[in-house]
Amino acid sequence: MATLPPDSRENSATPAPEPKRVGMVSLGCPKALVDSERILTRLRADGYAMSADYAGADVVLVNTCGFLDSAKEESLAAIGEAIAENGRVIVTGCMGNEADVIRARFPDVLAVTGAHQYEAVVEAVHEAAPPAMGPYFDLIPQALDDMGGVKLTPRHYGYLKISEGCNHACSFCIIPDLRGKLASRRIDAVLREAEKLVAAGTRELLVISQDTSAYGVDVRHETRQWKGREVRTHMTDLARELGQLRTPDGQVPWVRLHYVYPYPHVDQVIPLMAQGLLTPYLDIPFQHASPKVLRAMKRPANEAKVLDRIKAWRAICPDLAIRSSFVVGFPGETEEDFQYLLDWLDEAQLDRVGAFRFEPVEGAAANALPDPVPEAVKEERYARIMAKTEAISAARLAAKVGRTIRVIIDDVGEPDEDGDIGATGRSQADAPEIDGAVYLRNVPESLKAGDFVDVLVEEADAHDLFGVIA
Ligand code: SF4
Repeated sequence: MATLPPDSRENSATPAPEPKRVGMVSLGCPKALVDSERILTRLRADGYAMSADYAGADVVLVNTCGFLDSAKEESLAAIGEAIAENGRVIVTGCMGNEADVIRARFPDVLAVTGAHQYEAVVEAVHEAAPPAMGPYFDLIPQALDDMGGVKLTPRHYGYLKISEGCNHACSFCIIPDLRGKLASRRIDAVLREAEKLVAAGTRELLVISQDTSAYGVDVRHETRQWKGREVRTHMTDLARELGQLRTPDGQVPWVRLHYVYPYPHVDQVIPLMAQGLLTPYLDIPFQHASPKVLRAMKRPANEAKVLDRIKAWRAICPDLAIRSSFVVGFPGETEEDFQYLLDWLDEAQLDRVGAFRFEPVEGAAANALPDPVPEAVKEERYARIMAKTEAISAARLAAKVGRTIRVIIDDVGEPDEDGDIGATGRSQADAPEIDGAVYLRNVPESLKAGDFVDVLVEEADAHDLFGVIA
């Protein structure tokens, strides 16, 4: 039985010291979100409470993104807002590596730390708002998920970060400068984290890194023991082991691979997808198709046969969905290169595509390349690639009408005036936050986020599907 601290028996009205409150603004990519979750988990364990608004926070953490100049501007704007609203601000994340830029604009920031410097961030918070201590103060975190982690993402999906940094030198990218060389996490630690997440209610794992296919290259694919088996620190072993996970109710959780480069061993995970052990989804940032532009971009796994491989993958796993992103208007991109990309897209029939106009990033090698593409031409190409990929997406989604597909529920609505309840979910072809949705009508009241249901697709538009539980 828990005993009360002695003083409280004498005077039960003695107030427990209020925990210090930390506000968090998390910008940038899913990887940054994972960092935010880790920092918050640690702070909660140290007795801090979270504040949902500026006003209630003793200190505000801004986790920044410094990938593109526009992201930097967004980060600076977020820091400015936090300073104006609260005044006690600590900056961390990718842009923290540019402390001088931040301090020049905001001399009042309390501390600036770089990406993944968890200890430094936590120390800065301790300094700025020393944690409340005392016999009454319960240091055991309360509002945590079942694993003891603070989750910023909904409980039914979670990110699994397998490595940090990158060994490539793509000419438009400064991530290797910001985040360093590839550093893979131990595979047994990754698998343990995945197992705990799934045991705690996560139904969908999103595997992330800068280059998932390169997992373990830095440690020469070292072998670790996992459940009495030897597993290599390698993407294929990771995929195979993640495919063995089961939710507490015995279902196969969805496991999505992001940031996969088409190295030859990617072929080996396709059969796992065909067997239903791995979500048939590959996020491959191709960025371009023209061999000349890819060379100028210094892209990894840039090989001519990728279209043949996509066809072969689809022959093994017809439901495979491929998402990618492309940059238009890269220096030196001619109309011919761009047309090559459009023709390639016609052949590749990718399910989901994000397109970006090339933007020079301070410090990137591509900035020095000759033949910049005029802004008006970039805009025109951007409009053309969007029209092309939208038409492909619409046709691929239209082909699903009449089929029954598996859907994970993200959100269940309130009954409308007729008592009908709608819900929003995603198919296996839709990653959260970046892809489309499946909108359901007339769902049962008992449906909840994280449920898997089979859905009869009734309609489709360019991005989303509409249907009813089959
Ligand atoms: S693979 Fe290229 S784009 Fe991706 S993080 Fe590495 S250098 Fe940047």
